Order: sequence, then structure tokens, then C-alpha cells
Amino acid sequence: MDVRLLQKLEEILPKENILTDEPLSKHTGFRTGGAADFFVTVENYDTIKKIITLAISEKITYYIIGNGSNLLVSDNGFRGIMIRLSTLPEPVFEDYGADAVKVTASAGCSLSKLANVCAARGLKGLEFAAGIPGTVGGAVVMNAGAYGGEIGDCIISAVIMDPEGNIRVYEKEELCMGYRTSILQEKEGIVLNASFVLREGNPDEIRRIISELAAKRREKQPLEYPSCGSTFKRPAGNFAGKLIEEAGLKGFSIGDATVSEKHAGFVINKGEATSAEIYSLIMEVQKRVFENSGVMLEPEVKLLGF
Ligand code: FAD
Repeated sequence: MDVRLLQKLEEILPKENILTDEPLSKHTGFRTGGAADFFVTVENYDTIKKIITLAISEKITYYIIGNGSNLLVSDNGFRGIMIRLSTLPEPVFEDYGADAVKVTASAGCSLSKLANVCAARGLKGLEFAAGIPGTVGGAVVMNAGAYGGEIGDCIISAVIMDPEGNIRVYEKEELCMGYRTSILQEKEGIVLNASFVLREGNPDEIRRIISELAAKRREKQPLEYPSCGSTFKRPAGNFAGKLIEEAGLKGFSIGDATVSEKHAGFVINKGEATSAEIYSLIMEVQKRVFENSGVMLEPEVKLLGF
């Protein structure tokens, strides 16, 4: 362990916010991945800036992790500083014209918690997001979506810090939200918070929709196993799960990394899978689907260290 770097981090952060040699398997959807040299939880913008400035000056890599629900990290772990943003402050609600409310949530806030808090206040628009196990920041980066809704539908703006530590509001158009993508997949930046426009509605009705969507997920998705949700993006005019099934790959395994029998679009960890096995399975599925259908599937899951 780099004791000098630890001392420098301790000058910036309380000791309890710094973990060393932290197994990333505790923080990723697949429950795999080696250790991060440093895993820090950051509570304010000034501290984020100090950490990235330190990392850049020391020529150390840093990486922002949300809830790790779309992240496959190498078994060798991560050499550098893994930064997790605090869940605070709590969401702020403001009037936004007739029947509309603007909600601003911190990037570290759980998306599902946000959707449920909004539902309880009778605000509709985030029902689709209640079952997505990521953070607000991760959802903006990924333009997360489900059941006909996506973050891009209701986002107003996001506050982003660039690698120099400059903070600026990005309006919706500048965020370039596309299918499971945003400007943040092309340009480095840390989402600090995001604002959404929601409409006033009936809390019971909104909660009913959330429950129905949760039931659909339980019925169709292998939620009993660790995964990162849909492993591949949906190819134009088709479905990844359908193409994988047609290639005869339902249940196909490398070690405990398995193409789910319940939903072929999900690679799951049936027990003791390693990241290397999951990665090999993803590559093999991609190759065999291409041979079978001519469609090259693109992983939706973010790969770190491969
Ligand atoms: P992470 O996985 O931690 O990170 C994803 C990427 O975002 C990484 O590149 C990371 O560096 C970056 N990132 C995270 N936070 C920030 C930030 N503040 N600033 C800059 N970069 C950041 N996704 C869907 O779209 N729809 C679904 O229906 C869906 N269902 C799922 C079901 C299950 C069971 C699981 C496990 C996953 C599912 N996912 C789904 C995938 C995943 O939940 C989403 O992609 C989610 O948006 C990822 O958020 P996260 O906070 O976990 O991000």
C-alpha cells in the first residue's frame, strides 16, 4: 500500500471515509472483482476537486463508482483511487410551472429511493426507474431506462465537474442523451447532481405502477442471482436476449458465469464466478451470436481493467 498517498488522502478526508485494499466484489452487481487500492467516499464538491487534483498531480488513476450495478471490474482490481459520492444531501423539490415540480438529487442518491420518495409525494415520471439498482449519477451517465421510460425523458440538467475541477450546469441538450448513452461516455466528467421535471399525480396510482413494474421484473428477470442487468445493449430492430437464445446459448456457462435460463439477456453469477469468467462468457456470446445472426452485440456493462 502507498503510505504516502494514504497520508495525503487523510489530509483531505476523514479516516472513516478511506478504505484501503477494498474488495470491489462488495460494490459491483456481479459480486466479482479484485480490490481497489483506495476506495473513498466523498461528501462535498470541494473534496472531490481536491482528490482529483491529488490524483492528477501524483499521476494516479481515479474512477467514479456509483452503485457498481453496471460495472465488471477485473479480478486484478483497480490500481488507484475509486471514488464513491455520498448519498447526501437529500433531494430538493421546487415548483416548476403548472402541475410540475423540479426535483434535484445528488449523484450518489439511490435512483430507486428517489423514485419512491417522488411517488410518496405524488410526483410522476420516475416510475420506470424504481427497479433500477443504480445511483442518480450512474443513471445519467447510462441514460438508464426501462418499460418505455428513460432518464433523458425527464432530465432538465446536470451539474458536472470536469477533470480540472470546474463545475458547470449542463442543460439537457448538452447531455446528448441517447439509447443507454450520454455525453459522459465520451467526455470525462463527474456528475454531481441532476434535476428532473415531474408531474403532479396521485400517489396511490404512482405506487401501483411501481409495484406492477416490480412484479414484471421479478417474473422475467433472474433477480435472485448477482448480475448487472441486461449485459448487452438492444441492437437496432431486435432484442439481445432473443438473439442469444436463437444462438442456443441459454444456460451456457463458463465456470459459474452463466447466460440466465430465465432471461438470456442477463449474464448471471451462479455462485463463485470470477470477473475473468464473466468477461470470457460475454466475449463468447458476442462471437457466437455474430456467427449465428450476423449481429454484433455491444456490451452495455462497463468493463474496467480488461
Ligand atoms: P455504476 O455501475 O457504478 O457505473 C456505471 C458507469 O457510470 C461507470 O462508467 C461509472 O464510472 C459511471 N458513473 C457512475 N456515477 C458517476 C458519476 N456520478 N459521475 C460520472 N460517472 C459516473 N439499467 C437500465 O438502464 N435499465 C434497467 O432496467 C436496468 N435493470 C437492471 C437490473 C439489475 C438487476 C441490475 C443489476 C442492473 C440493471 N441495470 C439497468 C443496469 C444499471 O443499474 C444501470 O446502468 C445504472 O444506471 C448504473 O448506475 P450505477 O450507479 O450502479 O453506476
